[in-house]
Amino acid sequence: MHERKNLYVPSKMDYVRGERPPVHCIFCAIRNENENVINLSVYQTEKFIVSANLYPYNPGHILIFPKEHVEQYRNLSAEDAAELHRLHVLCLDVLQDTYTPQGFNMGCNEGRVAGASIEHLHFHVVPRYANEIGFLDIINDDRIIVEDPRESVRKLRSAFNNRDK
Ligand SMILES: [Zn+2]
Repeated sequence: MHERKNLYVPSKMDYVRGERPPVHCIFCAIRNENENVINLSVYQTEKFIVSANLYPYNPGHILIFPKEHVEQYRNLSAEDAAELHRLHVLCLDVLQDTYTPQGFNMGCNEGRVAGASIEHLHFHVVPRYANEIGFLDIINDDRIIVEDPRESVRKLRSAFNNRDK
């Protein structure tokens, strides 16, 4: 795979809680390698990108999104869906090897009323653990950071790279 050389990540955890960058769409900005966004991408296929989540619910929380700005699931082609399925399976394998979770939540929210805070279609894969409280590092009242996203990116890039060999 193409290994990004210029990883831009926050230098302090409070940066993580800061304002969103001034770009129209954060996922399009990641695809375009816009230097104003924190790029947590860990893997890509022809049509999709896998990224660590800047605001993870759990260690290993990743996002899969199409490179093209698609807002509705029904605008994916059958071929896109097949690629997306293969990528989900790969992600589950990598997360299982890397984080040894006991389960997963997977899915997407389409539309603001459904909870989508970013309109560009994206799929969450959230590893679940039997004793999740043990992972939590509560750093303020309204935000829980479970693993420094820089550490997630390092682990996941290495794991995806090893799968590609
Ligand atoms: Zn977009």
